[in-house]
Amino acid sequence: MGNQQTIKNPVVKLENVSKFYGQGNLLVKALDKINLEVNKGDYLAVMGASGSGKSTAMNILGCLDRPTHGSYLLNGLQVEELNDDALADLRNQELGFVFQQFHLLQDATALENVLLPMIYAGIPQSAREELAKQALEKVGLMERMQNYPNQLSGGQQQRVAIARAIINQPSLLLADEPTGALDSSTTEDVLNLFDELHKQGITLVLVTHEDEVAKRAQKVAKFKDGKIIEIS
Ligand code: ADP
Ligand code: MG
Repeated sequence: MGNQQTIKNPVVKLENVSKFYGQGNLLVKALDKINLEVNKGDYLAVMGASGSGKSTAMNILGCLDRPTHGSYLLNGLQVEELNDDALADLRNQELGFVFQQFHLLQDATALENVLLPMIYAGIPQSAREELAKQALEKVGLMERMQNYPNQLSGGQQQRVAIARAIINQPSLLLADEPTGALDSSTTEDVLNLFDELHKQGITLVLVTHEDEVAKRAQKVAKFKDGKIIEIS
């Protein structure tokens, strides 16, 4: 058919992205002109010493923070051009975020925590509960859905957080040291869950300090002093 070309549209394209804090002598270049592409279905591990800019990069990828300079294309959308409301919608619909400290709502049950992003997304009430239960089943927590976070172990709380992060079928799942607060056997459970999600086609970027964790990924981006010094 003629010379039709398939244009590959990456999920993430960062071009010369910088993030500065402070000014003058106190200027901190948390990110210094980083370039990064993440394609659909990729599993990328982000590594680097403490203070190297990993969380800053994740917060920008997750639209929790804006770059000082540079361009961020998320699924072809130019993120810097969006206002705060549009960014909030984008976070709700395109992004899932998993944090080291889970960040669950303490006054809400596991089920309610997973329901919440669907309420914001305007999913009809009649469909929400069934979808939330399916997500909790996927992470192996159906029988704990009426429990509050403080009635769950760390690993169980993180699995609720993962169910919440994937409930709106995000195009990108971000996890910033998701196993940093977990013991080794629970870490294994959570990593197996990420492997499974990756097999199902989710695009995943995960920050870790541990080689064991990074081995699960297809690619590793190494950060140093606000720069990506190696992608392998
Ligand atoms: P990492 O996650 O790799 O440990 P961070 O992205 O948290 O690194 O931090 C990168 C650099 O930016 C560090 O020097 C840190 O002190 C600085 N930094 C991060 N957040 C802020 C902030 N809100 N205000 C000032 N400096 C910050
Ligand atoms: Mg960090």
